[in-house]
Amino acid sequence: MSLLVVGSLALDSVETPTQSRDNVLGGSAVFFSYAASYFTGVRLVGVVGEDWPQEHTDLLGQRRVDTQGLQFVEGGKTFRWRGKYQPNMNDRDTLEVHLNVFADFDPSVPDGFQDSQYVFLANAAPGVQSKVLDQVKDPQLVVADTMDLWINETRDDLVSLLKRVDGLVLNDSEAKLLTGEENLIRAAEQVVSMGPKFVVVKKGEHGALLYSEDGVCVLPAFPTGDVVDPTGAGDSFAGGMMGYIAECDQADTETLRKALVYGTVVASYNVEDFSLEQMKRIEREQIDQRFSEYCDMLKI
Ligand code: AMP
Repeated sequence: MSLLVVGSLALDSVETPTQSRDNVLGGSAVFFSYAASYFTGVRLVGVVGEDWPQEHTDLLGQRRVDTQGLQFVEGGKTFRWRGKYQPNMNDRDTLEVHLNVFADFDPSVPDGFQDSQYVFLANAAPGVQSKVLDQVKDPQLVVADTMDLWINETRDDLVSLLKRVDGLVLNDSEAKLLTGEENLIRAAEQVVSMGPKFVVVKKGEHGALLYSEDGVCVLPAFPTGDVVDPTGAGDSFAGGMMGYIAECDQADTETLRKALVYGTVVASYNVEDFSLEQMKRIEREQIDQRFSEYCDMLKI
């Protein structure tokens, strides 16, 4: 089924304790699209500048990512992010953010995308996320992501957006920041009271938690010893999750739980190299294989 995503397309610079990369392909919508494309076709809406290499668009096009919703701003620069990971490879500092063309992004959803059944509002200003929703006709499931920047700077917009979405994906520190609750279950409860039917709290190397009125499901991360660059783990997690939901064309609790496992597995591949390098090397077959290893691991 049709899956629409809006979010950032970025040129990232990443420093880890042992290696670094400059100006590599990144962005919330990019990691999401590539991850979701193992499961379904993806409709991408975003903005880039003149410095955006054509090869990045080609790479997405070679997967099942429809890039007709990409806006090119003449004379503009693409969004840039620079981050540095702590030795634990879980905590990171944002050293630089240059919103560039992303700052004035006025999303326009192409006519052919407006009937999208599944919508993911990847990391972007909540005002931008809302404008996308205004242009989608009758979606079956809308899930949003957010981050500390938007919680701190555009809280009112975010609170309005939450009333319009079915699900919210955010990490543990963001859930605490949004709700003021230190206990994650309480924080999840509060998020659900703000509008969404379910919330997925990502806990980095400690996995993820799904909370809805049907109950709580807590899943560990897939144990990989090869963590090279965690950038995009959250977005590729969301891509695997939403891609599977769109492929099944249903979002009941059982499907959501399996979707969480697929998200976990795709994210575990993503962190094994910089940018999208490891995802580029794998196919659906490897994902299904790791899915079954993960399920075996949890048999008690
Ligand atoms: P993640 O590691 O899943 O949190 O995602 C990291 C990606 O998000 C990087 O590729 C960044 O380019 C992108 N990113 C960082 N800050 C923002 C922001 N404020 N808005 C949108 N995307 C961002």
